[in-house]
Order: sequence, then C-alpha cells, then structure tokens
Amino acid sequence: MSKNSQHFETQAVRTQTEKTQFLEHSTPMYLTSGFTFEDSEEMRASFAEEKERNLYSRFSNPNTSEFVDKICRLEGAEDGYAFATGMAAVFSTFAALLDAGDHIVSARSVFGSTHTLFTKYFPKWNIETSYFRVDELEKVETLIQPNTKIIYAESPTNPGVDVLDLEALGKIAKEHNLLLVVDNCFATPYLQNPITFGADLVIHSATKLIDGQGRVLGGVTVGKKELIREIYLFSRNTGPALSPFNAWVLSKSLETLAVRVEKHCENALKLAQFLESHPKVNWVKYPFLKSHPKYDIAKKQMKLGGNIVAFEVKGGVQGGKTFFDSIQMCSLSANLGDTRTIVTHPASTTHSKLAQEDKAVVGITDGMVRCSVGLEHVDDIIADIEQALARI
Ligand SMILES: *Cc1c(COP(=O)(O)O)cnc(C)c1O
Repeated sequence: MSKNSQHFETQAVRTQTEKTQFLEHSTPMYLTSGFTFEDSEEMRASFAEEKERNLYSRFSNPNTSEFVDKICRLEGAEDGYAFATGMAAVFSTFAALLDAGDHIVSARSVFGSTHTLFTKYFPKWNIETSYFRVDELEKVETLIQPNTKIIYAESPTNPGVDVLDLEALGKIAKEHNLLLVVDNCFATPYLQNPITFGADLVIHSATKLIDGQGRVLGGVTVGKKELIREIYLFSRNTGPALSPFNAWVLSKSLETLAVRVEKHCENALKLAQFLESHPKVNWVKYPFLKSHPKYDIAKKQMKLGGNIVAFEVKGGVQGGKTFFDSIQMCSLSANLGDTRTIVTHPASTTHSKLAQEDKAVVGITDGMVRCSVGLEHVDDIIADIEQALARI
C-alpha cells in the first residue's frame, strides 16, 4: 500500500523520520542547533543544495521535517515549512510572496493579529488590503485590482464562527490568476482540506487543536512546492523557525488528532444543541447546526463542525459579565483548542479595542461568548454553562 493511499489516521500515526540511529520506535528529539560534515566537499555540496540534508536547525531539523511531512500528507500538500507560532507562519507567508505595491483581498473576519498586520504593518511597505464581509462573497471580484496577488480567508472564522465557501473563493482566485491562502486553524486538517477546494497555501496555528493540550506554540504553511520554496528562502534568512522540541511535541500530538477532534466536535454539537433551546440565549452559531446561515456549505466542505461554539447571552455586556463571573469549571482564557473547555468574552477582552461597527462586521456583539469546547465529559461542560446562565 503506497503511503499516499493510506487513511488520515494511519498517516498521522505512521509518518516518521526514517532510520534513526537506534531504530527507536518513537522518534527521538534532535536537540541540536547544527549538523556536522565529513569534509569540505560535503559541506560545499550541502550548502550549494546539491545534496539534501540538514545543515542548521534554522533551515531544517529532523523533528521539524517530520512534523511538516505529516501536515503535508494530512493536507494533501506538496511541501511546507514550520514556524515558531501561527503568526510567524502568517507573516512570513505574506512577506515572502509580496512586493512593495502589491495588494491583498481578504475577508474582514480574520484573526486579530492578522488584521493588525493588514492595517498597521503592511502599509509601511505600501501593501494595501481590501476587505469583503463573509456574507458578501459576490463582492470579492469587485475588489480585485491589477496589483492584487493574494486572496486570504479563514473558515470557520474567529470568533464569529462564520463559514466561507472555499470552492467559490478557489474559482475566483483561479480565474484572476491570484493565490488563495487559507488559515485552516479552526478546522484542522482532519475536518477540512482547503487545497481540494483550490487553495494554493494552507496555514495553521499549531498552537490550537494540533497541539490540542495547551502546551506549545507552533505554526506551519503548506502548499505548492514553488511557493514554499520562496517561503523557505525568506524564513531561513529571517529566522522564524519552529524549535525541534516543539516540533517533537506537535508531531506526537498529530498521532491523536483524529480521535481528539472527533470527540471535541461531538461535545461541541451537544453543547450547541443545548444552548439553542435555552431561554437565556439569544442565538447560537455552530457550523453543523441547521440554523447556521452557511450550514449547507459547512456540510459540503467540513467533516464535522469543529470545537468552537459562539452564542449570545441575554442582557448585553452585563449579561456577559455575570455569565463569566458565574463560571465554575470552564477556564476563562483567550486560548482555544485545548482539552479544557475555555470561555471567552470577545467584547470585553480580545476585541475590546474594535469600534462598535467593526465588531458588528466580524460578528461580535456585547453579550457574545466564544466557547472552545474541550474533552471533559459533555454533561459536566453543559452543567457548568447551565448554572452560569441561570444567574443572568
Ligand atoms: C491563534 C490563531 C492564529 C495565531 O497563532 P499563534 O500560534 O497564536 O501565533 C492565527 N490564526 C487563527 C485563526 C488563530 O486562531
């Protein structure tokens, strides 16, 4: 059986650095900054890239290569590069591929730091961004300019849990000869493979469900070989590489990604269904609830609905605050994708600096709660949220 015909779970478990010194069953950790050479000729040939091997861990390392190989197999990508964080992956991908004067077309609902890159830092290099709302994909083509290079999107979005039609975006990108770059963090490679819908590059914050246990930071970009080559050359010179230790942790985490994400999604759907009929809840957004505005698209492009549920409690900001102060078991934190259920109140924390109309555009309201559903028993998660809602 060829490796590429194996199932997701098998590739996640069996993709491994080959022929380790002691034939260790579990890949050892290669905590080394550099690698040695036999003689001057081997060193010359290696640096001239006539020979494929590890030179220095800023460029590559057996642990980071194993992690990248796995993500490539799981996403159906040709090649990749691993980064210290998800934001290092996002920044380096744009910085490697764009020139001064280039233009980006992006969904307005993107991760907060990504939006800050667009509004605060890229304009320093004369790179401008035009935005479309997640419910206005028909507007995307009107935003394209002669200098546009990249269409950028996340799906599902953070924190609004909106779903974008990736196939439609892929078609637009292809027709206009643009690159489609998708941040696939919320879905993980287990639930959704954007490359099959026309994405050229896929980015992950491995910090979230890929680690899944709230331990390490990491990021990765995978996709077309010639694009990854540019990203690799930029990164080997600028230094955002993933540490071998974190790569080792993340590579092990991938072995359990499928079973973890299955359970996360099962718990999230049950919580979403519970909230839908609760009198203290105005609305619930979860991709696999029939009430989600893009339910059909979610069903088409995702295997399950993911682990993030957004909902609005009654009573606006005060309702949100009372709810948070009443939570007993779930964690009040801004992270997501952990074994532990986390509740966040974007209006008073992660998105508090946004103007009211900008909050509305990205789907944030005063009483909105984002819940990253964990792996505790679902009855205990629901019980904690139920008792907090009762206090509003
Ligand atoms: C967290 C996150 C990032 C950034 O990842 P870090 O590892 O925290 O740098 C990017 N995109 C999305 C959608 C995220 O949730």
